Amino acid sequence: MNLTSAIEIAKQTRLHAKYTTTSNYYVGACLVTKAGKMYSGCNIENCGIQSICAERTAFVKALSEGENDFSYIVVVGGKKDATVLENCLPCGYCRQFMVQYVDKDFKIYACFGKDDTIEEYTISDLLPHAFTL
Ligand code: ZN
Repeated sequence: MNLTSAIEIAKQTRLHAKYTTTSNYYVGACLVTKAGKMYSGCNIENCGIQSICAERTAFVKALSEGENDFSYIVVVGGKKDATVLENCLPCGYCRQFMVQYVDKDFKIYACFGKDDTIEEYTISDLLPHAFTL
């Protein structure tokens, strides 16, 4: 599977976001393993503080199925009916969560704007001073 497919899956999965009554923000992610397997995720919110972001949803799905070797993740986001997506990068909580399970060169792609601009980062770009044990 290629980056274009992963972006399309992230966009489709974004629309499955749950209970976004507070944020009205729909995020989709597609996590790709080094073997090319893809795991999608969306943000799943609730009326309390136990919401989970799209990125962690994708990671939890993959990790719980025994995946351990990740290549990259695509993240897309915007309001529910947005025709043009916003530049949406993982929150601090997700960055710290991901860093535990990826190599330093793990890629994070954001896709946004009317022309589907793609920006590439590494986990080290986004979290240069991660907490580690
Ligand atoms: Zn997050």
